[in-house]
Amino acid sequence: MITLNDIRSTFLGYFERQGHRVVASSPLVPRNDPTLMFTNSGMVQFKNLFTGVETRDYKRATTAQKCVRAGGKHNDLDNVGYTARHHTFFEMLGNFSFGDYFKSEAIPFAWELITKDFGIDKSRLYVTVYHTDDEAAEIWKKVGVPESRIIRIATNDNFWMMGPTGPCGPCTEIFYDHGDKYWGGPPGTPEEDGDRFVEIWNLVFMQYEQFEDGSRRELAAQSIDTGMGIERVAALLQGTNDNYATDLIRSLIEASANATSTDPDGPGKVHHRVIADHLRSTSFLMADGVMPSNDGRGYVLRRIMRRAMRHAHLLGAKDPLMYRLVPALVRQMGAAYPELSRAQALIEETLKLEETRFKATLDRGLKLLDDEVAALDGKELPGETAFKLYDTYGFPLDLTQDALREKGMTVATAGFDAAMAAQKAQARAAWAGSGEAAESTVWYDVAETAGTTDFLGYDTETAEGQI
Ligand code: ATP
Ligand code: MG
Ligand code: MG
Ligand code: MG
Repeated sequence: MITLNDIRSTFLGYFERQGHRVVASSPLVPRNDPTLMFTNSGMVQFKNLFTGVETRDYKRATTAQKCVRAGGKHNDLDNVGYTARHHTFFEMLGNFSFGDYFKSEAIPFAWELITKDFGIDKSRLYVTVYHTDDEAAEIWKKVGVPESRIIRIATNDNFWMMGPTGPCGPCTEIFYDHGDKYWGGPPGTPEEDGDRFVEIWNLVFMQYEQFEDGSRRELAAQSIDTGMGIERVAALLQGTNDNYATDLIRSLIEASANATSTDPDGPGKVHHRVIADHLRSTSFLMADGVMPSNDGRGYVLRRIMRRAMRHAHLLGAKDPLMYRLVPALVRQMGAAYPELSRAQALIEETLKLEETRFKATLDRGLKLLDDEVAALDGKELPGETAFKLYDTYGFPLDLTQDALREKGMTVATAGFDAAMAAQKAQARAAWAGSGEAAESTVWYDVAETAGTTDFLGYDTETAEGQI
């Protein structure tokens, strides 16, 4: 069986042979980019090379990039536990050309790697192109993809933009059909959101520069930016459509099952999946210097941790669980990402401390939530109750929403926001004139911003669903 670690080295080795520099993953906290919450694709560390602000001694690069999509425009937190193909933390494999080769080489590279080196069955592959990109469609035909499997898409899904201005261009996505035992339809159909046709690789052609007034000009230095989800490729090469059944993530699920003496595939199956996913994102974030806190990145981290802790609770874990799973993660990923091994002790201590603290209120908060739900008529939890859970028991709003979603229920968020505003006004009044730092007032401000709205970054204007 080809393991996830093998796939990483096959990919990097292939592009190294094609003259690419193997560059290390950049940290999850983007350098010099306070507007982007977490690194969410391979191109982030190369942004200045694409815009021409910076040049280096190489024009081709290849990476395995750590990515987190748990905030901002790219937020897959709510997909975890629900789809077979999304994680909050994943690795994106990529090849990049900075004004060097373009479409006519990028497409054959991709096709050769997946069909020869990885040996993927061509009869299961589909590609999409932007509807006006005849050039890309022609190249796909030339490498041997039949016309019937080249799908033209007119939406922004196949047009990438770095921001409101700057480099942009059409893209092409490669899909794998896992077969009719799974639900889903090909891209461009209403059923495309299923787990049957899975997007494995996205190739972006940076062809134009866009200006303030919306006009575009062909770029002098046209570039390539691609992203392949390693866990999705591992799934198909290991004969499953489920990323969580692949070697690396499965071993984390088994660690979670062992530590709780439960069945990995029993009634707690979803809990194990969420725990395995959140173990990766929280550990890698801490390895890159993010610590749990009540604002910004640190609050996103805390929210992910607390969500995982609720799932551990539902598995019946009496004692802190997450920190005990860290060694299993380090065994799997410590060699490829030495920063993880270096931070192991810190990660374990922090997880243990956070879980110990949260446990004290988690049990009582969940009991309160259960009682409220049992007494409820409709499908909507009053916002005041969600606020009480937040204020008294430390439940981030999204944790309460996550808990209710399993029951087909929601939170009346307007009521939550109103309760939050009232609390804040009261706190301000109480602190006024006291002469002390109004620490708790600040807490409410930041928690509210981070908890109820998305982080808005430079990528808010870019097309949805792309690199
Ligand atoms: P999808 O439409 O499936 O959500 P995407 O179009 O948002 O994917 P891109 O931004 O194009 O994804 O990222 C490049 C590649 O990274 C995708 O083709 C996919 O293989 C992988 N990928 C994206 N998001 C995730 C995720 N949350 N978990 C695992 N892999 C992902
Ligand atoms: Mg997509
Ligand atoms: Mg997506
Ligand atoms: Mg995509």
